[in-house]
Amino acid sequence: MPNGKPAGVRCVQLTEENRCAIFGDPRRPPVCASLQPEPAMCGSDRGQAMAWLTALETATAAG
Ligand code: SF4
Repeated sequence: MPNGKPAGVRCVQLTEENRCAIFGDPRRPPVCASLQPEPAMCGSDRGQAMAWLTALETATAAG
Protein backbone atom coordinates (compact mmCIF):
# COMPACT_ATOMS: atom_id res chain seq x y z
CA MET A 1 0.00 0.00 0.00
CA PRO A 2 2.03 2.96 -1.35
CA ASN A 3 0.73 5.52 1.14
CA GLY A 4 0.67 3.20 4.13
CA LYS A 5 -2.19 1.22 5.60
CA PRO A 6 -4.84 3.36 7.27
CA ALA A 7 -6.21 2.14 10.60
CA GLY A 8 -9.15 -0.19 10.21
CA VAL A 9 -8.30 -1.06 6.61
CA ARG A 10 -7.33 -4.62 5.75
CA CYS A 11 -3.87 -4.87 4.21
CA VAL A 12 -4.04 -5.68 0.50
CA GLN A 13 -1.31 -8.29 1.04
CA LEU A 14 -3.37 -10.27 3.54
CA THR A 15 -4.72 -13.45 1.99
CA GLU A 16 -8.11 -15.02 2.66
CA GLU A 17 -6.27 -17.39 5.01
CA ASN A 18 -4.98 -14.33 6.93
CA ARG A 19 -1.41 -14.90 5.83
CA CYS A 20 0.96 -12.32 4.41
CA ALA A 21 1.24 -12.77 0.64
CA ILE A 22 4.68 -11.11 0.55
CA PHE A 23 6.24 -12.72 3.63
CA GLY A 24 9.98 -13.09 2.97
CA ASP A 25 9.78 -10.73 -0.01
CA PRO A 26 12.00 -7.62 0.13
CA ARG A 27 8.96 -5.52 -0.80
CA ARG A 28 7.40 -6.34 2.58
CA PRO A 29 7.46 -3.11 4.61
CA PRO A 30 10.28 -2.99 7.18
CA VAL A 31 7.79 -2.19 9.91
CA CYS A 32 6.11 -5.55 9.33
CA ALA A 33 9.39 -7.43 9.58
CA SER A 34 10.42 -5.55 12.72
CA LEU A 35 7.24 -6.21 14.66
CA GLN A 36 7.91 -8.71 17.43
CA PRO A 37 4.70 -10.37 18.56
CA GLU A 38 4.21 -11.10 22.21
CA PRO A 39 1.57 -13.07 24.12
CA ALA A 40 -0.35 -9.97 25.25
CA MET A 41 -0.68 -8.87 21.62
CA CYS A 42 -2.03 -12.19 20.38
CA GLY A 43 -4.14 -13.30 23.34
CA SER A 44 -5.50 -16.80 23.33
CA ASP A 45 -7.70 -16.47 20.27
CA ARG A 46 -8.52 -14.27 17.28
CA GLY A 47 -11.10 -12.26 19.25
CA GLN A 48 -8.53 -11.18 21.83
CA ALA A 49 -6.02 -10.31 19.11
CA MET A 50 -8.59 -8.19 17.28
CA ALA A 51 -9.55 -6.42 20.53
CA TRP A 52 -5.88 -5.56 21.09
CA LEU A 53 -5.51 -4.23 17.56
CA THR A 54 -8.69 -2.19 17.84
CA ALA A 55 -7.50 -0.64 21.11
CA LEU A 56 -4.16 0.29 19.50
CA GLU A 57 -5.84 1.77 16.45
CA THR A 58 -8.21 3.79 18.62
CA ALA A 59 -5.37 5.04 20.81
CA THR A 60 -3.29 6.15 17.82
CA ALA A 61 -6.06 7.42 15.54
CA ALA A 62 -5.56 10.87 14.04
CA GLY A 63 -7.80 13.49 15.64
S1 SF4 B 1 2.86 -8.40 7.33
FE1 SF4 B 1 2.62 -6.33 6.55
S2 SF4 B 1 2.45 -6.58 4.32
FE2 SF4 B 1 2.10 -8.57 5.25
S3 SF4 B 1 -0.14 -8.69 5.47
FE3 SF4 B 1 0.68 -7.92 7.41
S4 SF4 B 1 0.56 -5.67 7.23
FE4 SF4 B 1 0.38 -6.55 5.15
